[in-house]
Amino acid sequence: MERGRYDVIVAGLGASGSSTLYHLATRGCRVLGLDRHGIPNEASSYHGVTRIIRLCYYESPVYVPLLQRAYENWRALEHACGRHLLHITGSIDAGPTDGWVFPGSLRSCQEHGLEHEVLTAASLQHRFPGYRLPDDMMAVLQPQGGFLVAEQCVVSYVEQALQRGAEVRGCERVVEWMPHASGITVRTDRATYEAEQLIVTSGAWIADLLPLLRPYVQTERQVLGWFQPARPALFLPDRFPVFNMETRDGRYYGTPVFGVPGFKVGRYHHLGQVDHPDQIDRGVYAEDEEVLRFFIREHFPDADGPVLSMKVCIFTNTPDGHFIIGRYPEAEPIIFASPCSGHGFKFASVIGEILADLATGGDTRKWPLDFFGLERFGRTTP
Ligand SMILES: Cc1cc2nc3c(=O)[nH]c(=O)nc-3n(C[C@H](O)[C@H](O)[C@H](O)COP(=O)(O)OP(=O)(O)OC[C@H]3O[C@@H](n4cnc5c(N)ncnc54)[C@H](O)[C@@H]3O)c2cc1C
Repeated sequence: MERGRYDVIVAGLGASGSSTLYHLATRGCRVLGLDRHGIPNEASSYHGVTRIIRLCYYESPVYVPLLQRAYENWRALEHACGRHLLHITGSIDAGPTDGWVFPGSLRSCQEHGLEHEVLTAASLQHRFPGYRLPDDMMAVLQPQGGFLVAEQCVVSYVEQALQRGAEVRGCERVVEWMPHASGITVRTDRATYEAEQLIVTSGAWIADLLPLLRPYVQTERQVLGWFQPARPALFLPDRFPVFNMETRDGRYYGTPVFGVPGFKVGRYHHLGQVDHPDQIDRGVYAEDEEVLRFFIREHFPDADGPVLSMKVCIFTNTPDGHFIIGRYPEAEPIIFASPCSGHGFKFASVIGEILADLATGGDTRKWPLDFFGLERFGRTTP
């Protein structure tokens, strides 16, 4: 079946695709958004109620200007849709002084002049009694950290895009694409469409649509857990900053009680279970709980209560943990972005703007796109 012609088709309407759709619709583009699952869905990488947003980025100071723009764009979305999506709690980045998280966070604060405080384990516990860190750990407290209400962000972007004339189809999977002289043909499991350009933001499935990316993405099972605190008041958003923490057993993150009546925690790379997203085990097991409880017992003993919920989610990891964004080497009309490696949601509001600029000839020179290019792995783009 042949359908209409679009300026841009967006394949995948999760974190970055929903934002891209909105930014394209805002520019007056004729745009179609497709998702193989529902909107929202719990099959991809953005579910589980909350996603941390933090400004002092230990991963690299390169991200800070993007984050500053991301905050502005999230606030603009809140204004457009009338929902409270970005909750400010402050953020803690904690770990040993010779590790990655604490010094990296401090470096971003110093390089970008960000407001922050350095706390010892004892002063952190005094300020926020839910925290119980070993004495050899230090923490950076940054007051603008917080969390986004993730599924509502995606829903809000899609809703606002629809209001601006975008067309959207859920439960319709992009199967293949064929570039030609005047654009690109996109075939789904239901129809065939024509467009000038295709933006692929299909998250964990990105290499299924763009096989040249296969060497650079690895999908991994993650488990989130919510635990009932013995002292719930210590874990509420007004008393408990979101955190990233580096311990001798790995890197963990967590958010206060919100949406689910439990304290939420996850471990980066959980049990190291790498698989194709269609094969990832969606069940939750005692060993998943034990990984998280072990950490809670030591660092948040007042939250060491019964499990209230557990969910499986997917990381899409690149070799260096940084995003991949660019034009597809094999086909000029295709732009792609995989902002994941477990830390991409907070950037969705600015990544969507950048992808829309790339598609419409907007100015992207102010963004560090070389940092995210495939060229860093030795692969050239057109
Ligand atoms: C457990 C967990 C915790 C996280 N915590 C944080 C955090 O605290 N802060 C943070 O910033 N980031 C966090 N992240 C990372 C963040 O959620 C991801 O970086 C982000 O969701 C990736 O966005 P994306 O648009 O690339 O993919 P997704 O958001 O997963 O969206 C991809 C979409 O594409 C669709 N799709 C796939 N294939 C097709 C196809 N063939 N045709 C049409 N549609 C298709 C999918 O159905 C999906 O809806 C976390 C991730 C996980 C898993």
